[in-house]
Amino acid sequence: MTAALPVTETDVVIVGAGPVGQLLALLLSRSGWRVEVLERRTRPFDLPRAVHIDHEVARVLQGVGVMAELMPVCEPMDAYEWRNGQGETLLVVQGGMGISGWPASLMFCQADLERLLARKLTENATAQVNWGWEVNQLRPHSHGCEVTGRQSDGAQATVAAKWVVACDGANSTVRTLVAAPIEDFGYSFDWVVADVMPHTETKWSPLNVQICDPSRPTTAVSGGPGRRRFEFLCLPGERLAEMARPEVIWGLLGPWGMSPANATLERQAGYTFGSRLASEWQAGPGGRVLLAGDAAHQMPPFAGQGLCSGLRDAANLAWKLDLVLSGTSGEGLMATYATERAPVARAEIELSVALGQLICVLEPEAAAERDAAMVPSARLTGPVEVPPAPSLGPGVTLLGDSHAGELGLQAVVACDGRRGLFDDLAGPRGWTLLSPLCDPLAGLAPSTADWWHSIGGTGHHVASDAAVDDVEDHYKGWFSELGAAVVLQRPDCHLFGTARYVEGAEDLVQAARAALGAPLRHS
Ligand SMILES: Cc1cc2nc3c(=O)[nH]c(=O)nc-3n(C[C@H](O)[C@H](O)[C@H](O)COP(=O)(O)OP(=O)(O)OC[C@H]3O[C@@H](n4cnc5c(N)ncnc54)[C@H](O)[C@@H]3O)c2cc1C
Repeated sequence: MTAALPVTETDVVIVGAGPVGQLLALLLSRSGWRVEVLERRTRPFDLPRAVHIDHEVARVLQGVGVMAELMPVCEPMDAYEWRNGQGETLLVVQGGMGISGWPASLMFCQADLERLLARKLTENATAQVNWGWEVNQLRPHSHGCEVTGRQSDGAQATVAAKWVVACDGANSTVRTLVAAPIEDFGYSFDWVVADVMPHTETKWSPLNVQICDPSRPTTAVSGGPGRRRFEFLCLPGERLAEMARPEVIWGLLGPWGMSPANATLERQAGYTFGSRLASEWQAGPGGRVLLAGDAAHQMPPFAGQGLCSGLRDAANLAWKLDLVLSGTSGEGLMATYATERAPVARAEIELSVALGQLICVLEPEAAAERDAAMVPSARLTGPVEVPPAPSLGPGVTLLGDSHAGELGLQAVVACDGRRGLFDDLAGPRGWTLLSPLCDPLAGLAPSTADWWHSIGGTGHHVASDAAVDDVEDHYKGWFSELGAAVVLQRPDCHLFGTARYVEGAEDLVQAARAALGAPLRHS
């Protein structure tokens, strides 16, 4: 009889070191939790994938100290223009600033983000990435869950954790192991994707275009400074593997003025863009397994939301796991992860599919019909703004408050003689009370204030004459739009709720305490 291998114990196991797994590991380790990330690859993935993140995700990445290095390799989007086969405008989405203090849309290279996150993780004491570790079994354990996998040297190893988070991508092994069902929206198309580096600097105006030409729908957008992303739809009868050959891709790039003489083909790949949503985001032994990122949802890239959606999952999960692991909240709090996030992911999938249905039209008559509706409408409306992200589903938010679940504002403030973004100057992100009238902590009963401080809560008077100086009056306008004298913001920067009068701060904190303190167990 062979002796059982020793089992390592930890707080959280994350399966998959893609961007979502790495961000979650960083967020949890900032709170001091022990995290083992198990990744089957031996190094970060380097094929062309996401080129777009939004302002909300940029704020999350700011919180883990990544934006200072990522921003120089990002290009803010000026506009995303859709044109038909004749070059007429069908739609223009304009860039500008988002509510989170960052440009609404930033163009970049996913591989750059993954490298930065991997480096940040190596600087971290409590989280580590185990490269070359393929998970293949999951069992109940007295500690929570036991995860077994094969290491690159062929040896099997096991880690037990209180919680397991599956960040193992679209074909998630963990999702299969826990038999979590997945809904297929039935929309999928093959595309070839190429990242190209022109040898000379070229000004693209607008930065991003979508060519809705039924003879070959094509995406031509920024992939960050000095890099262009091209995506070509495979036509009926074309084989994806054949289309992804460099010779074929150069042929498709020719009409864009690109050739091996003036540009370098950095990476290329063929992808089938699908659209699926897990019906259960919490499963496995005792509900201790949570799905995040592409393991929970996949969508075509036309709204640039696949990665963004996964990073939002990580931001939502991190503070909830922190409160449950520390014993502040019961484990039933984790059920609110799915109730809050799944409706948002569904809306993002539906939007991406709707955009794809307009873009991937291959019949000339259907394209002409689409154009007849969209060309006049684009002339009439002019450029439109990026639509706001959908609000969270029900969960840890104030019942009956129409602003609950919306994103909180981040703007430039001045504080202690320095000027910059609120999160950088007014302290680390966490539970925050904000008021334009006074210090919102001043009116809290002592026991309420004690509890607020015990979860790391802070309070800020943000106004033109306050310690946190609203130098550009953005907060003034925001409070006025909300009709609020106090706002309670969660660590993921979504609003728990608002109060019309400063005295309402006490009730807001009490309501948050009730919402966090007595959640039900997962059934
Ligand atoms: C061409 C293209 C363009 C895109 N454009 C955009 C865009 O502009 N904006 C946007 O927001 N999104 C975009 N996306 C989507 C985005 O790339 C994905 O949503 C994102 O990579 C998902 O991250 P993830 O961490 O969930 O999964 P992944 O990045 O897939 O990471 C999963 C990890 O899990 C590992 N793994 C799998 N199984 C196991 C196992 N059994 N054991 C251990 N490890 C395992 C894998 O090796 C992998 O490293 C695009 C995608 C493509 C393909």
